[in-house]
Amino acid sequence: MGLTAIFAYPMQNPNDTFRHKGMRKELVAFLRTKGIIDEAVLTAIDNIPRHLFMDGAFLEFAYQDKAFPIAAGQTISQPFTVAFQTQLLHIKKGDKVLEIGTGSGYQTAVLCELGAKVFTIERQRPLFLKSQQILKELGYMPKQFYGDGYIGQPNFAPFDKIIVTAGAPFIPPKLVEQLKPGGILIIPVGENVQTMIEIRKNTDGTTTQTEYGEFRFVPLLEDKQ
Ligand code: SAH
Repeated sequence: MGLTAIFAYPMQNPNDTFRHKGMRKELVAFLRTKGIIDEAVLTAIDNIPRHLFMDGAFLEFAYQDKAFPIAAGQTISQPFTVAFQTQLLHIKKGDKVLEIGTGSGYQTAVLCELGAKVFTIERQRPLFLKSQQILKELGYMPKQFYGDGYIGQPNFAPFDKIIVTAGAPFIPPKLVEQLKPGGILIIPVGENVQTMIEIRKNTDGTTTQTEYGEFRFVPLLEDKQ
């Protein structure tokens, strides 16, 4: 009988406590007040233990709406930014999604949770390795690549959606090439401050661009190191 009780909750993660879950509910409520209306995105954020993607020193802050340092001088994006970019992608189950800048892997988890087939690229080796570990531990199965996001992932193209999670000085042409007709690319463009840009590829191959306000990201770097 005791065993039955244990097997009744196979997905419980001992590192994700009721306290964390409570803080997540508050974060979700806050994101609603900031204009996130996509229920699937809010549910994904409610489900994913963001604190497990962060270094121990910042666990207490995991459910504040803030960006925080991760390894290699990078940051885990602010929850609002993750929610905002994801909402703009309009993910449908089974969408092939390319993410540039795996970082902590948190945004990757959100995309997986929404039922996307995720391909994600990171240029910092420690982050590539660390994110692989936590994503696997939580049961997500993205395809992860160590490399340069400017090149995209031609072997697996075209993609339904592409998301860039670092500030790009310009729109990398290869990413637009690797987008399906009807596909959406969400990318923050700019040097110190970035404008969130949505690029839709029309069925005739032309693109339509829409701007969605200002954000701050770590830079999308062009050369290794
Ligand atoms: N989505 C991440 C955000 C991390 S910050 C998260 O939720 O944690 C942006 C990431 O982009 C950093 O990890 C940085 O190393 C990576 N990056 C920067 N330039 C890159 C490039 N040219 N190719 C791939 N990744 C890059």
